[in-house]
Amino acid sequence: MSLRFKLQLVAVADDGSETTEDVVILDKDHEGLEQLGLTLAEGKQLLREVQRRVLERQVTAFLSVETACPKCGRPRGTKDHKVLGLRTLFGKMSLQSARLRRCCRQPGESASVSPLSRLLSERSTPELRYLETRWASLVSYGLTVKALRDFLPIDEHVNVTTVRRTTLGVARRCEAELGPEQPMFADGCQLDWDELPRPDLPLTVGLDGGYVHSSQQRSRRDGWFEVVAGKSTPAEGASKCFGFVQTYDTKPKRRLFEVLKSQGMQMNQQVTFVTDGGDDVRDLPLYLNPQAEHLLDWFHITMRLTVMNQMAKGLRSRERPDLTTEVAEDLERLKWFLWHGNVFRALQTAEDLEVDLDVEGAGPEQRKLLKTVTEFGGYIRANGAWIPNYGERYRYGEAISSAFVESTVNQVVSKRMVKKQQMRWTPEGAHLLLQTRTRTLNGDLAATFRTWYPAFSLEDRETTDEELPAAA
Ligand SMILES: [Zn+2]
Repeated sequence: MSLRFKLQLVAVADDGSETTEDVVILDKDHEGLEQLGLTLAEGKQLLREVQRRVLERQVTAFLSVETACPKCGRPRGTKDHKVLGLRTLFGKMSLQSARLRRCCRQPGESASVSPLSRLLSERSTPELRYLETRWASLVSYGLTVKALRDFLPIDEHVNVTTVRRTTLGVARRCEAELGPEQPMFADGCQLDWDELPRPDLPLTVGLDGGYVHSSQQRSRRDGWFEVVAGKSTPAEGASKCFGFVQTYDTKPKRRLFEVLKSQGMQMNQQVTFVTDGGDDVRDLPLYLNPQAEHLLDWFHITMRLTVMNQMAKGLRSRERPDLTTEVAEDLERLKWFLWHGNVFRALQTAEDLEVDLDVEGAGPEQRKLLKTVTEFGGYIRANGAWIPNYGERYRYGEAISSAFVESTVNQVVSKRMVKKQQMRWTPEGAHLLLQTRTRTLNGDLAATFRTWYPAFSLEDRETTDEELPAAA
């Protein structure tokens, strides 16, 4: 014997009178474990049916006050009806939108008005668009559709096209609201800055690049383009990440400035930028803050030295059996000079090493190492101004490296955009997705929606790096 349930919705009017309508009739068996409680299908059906009725009543209530002419107060006649679609978390709803004859018509005004089109300024609810954007920022568009369809009573109206359009639309809106680029963001002068309260400890900003597959590949060489990702870490409080596509972005300084401002950066606060010294990121820290200092990431220096050490181990020379040891010693001296910020002696050491390696009859390993040493010398020369005395900084507990940025590139860029080789991006698409992704990772997406829809009530849940799936 099955149990029968009749689910009803009772609408209560202002005067207390009630209107009851049937929503769903459920016949439930109870002989098996799988029959207990509501099934997913029943839950979805229930949500969809309730959603439709609640929405219809809201629309009726909204329209009831709109019937009167705003000028003379007389009721306006209905010309005809149009059906408007609204995508919601619990299904796509078709709503009757009355077109009213305009009374007290001014010259140039149309003959009819559709109040509901004004209310439905967008054809999907903010909560649906938030979830589409949040999930598409974490996993692929395709997986987002699958996940949302698994749990919500939605069907064809949520698909890869709508999810991508929604996500990029949210990103474009954020971009449009980003203030103009300025050559200089340090406002005020030294006198004003002296007046500011004593700021917190330094902020450390690490910047690094990663590469994503281009969808506009014409040759092997332009198969990839660079994406810059970074993380700003205050002495206390949460880090924030940011990202952009250098070749597409017209406001990288403003973007970074807004991140730092949201972390409470003051103009008299020390900000340390740690980068790999690439041309693209070298200029960015300038003009952002009068107290900004820029240094070459010690992590990147040691990475390059490690590579050269590995290469030295492979050297075989009949004439000079000690070559490997000699080169290793030279590299050790090179590292020591760099650690103490002695660029001049470091460059001398690199040049000596080049002379040592550049001999007639050198094997291919040796020539390869020579080339790498020469490139390293060029790298040190180009970035000499940003090589501090790392040893001293280290003793004072100051930042010397942004090894954490390596994981930021992985977190912000690679996990969503790179792992799966077929994933190809336009610079614009990658740049826009980075904007919703960093907002999602920073826990700022719901707050962004709230600035657009004040009554928006969802809250961001934190997403830890371990939870982030590799792009799939
Ligand atoms: Zn009127």
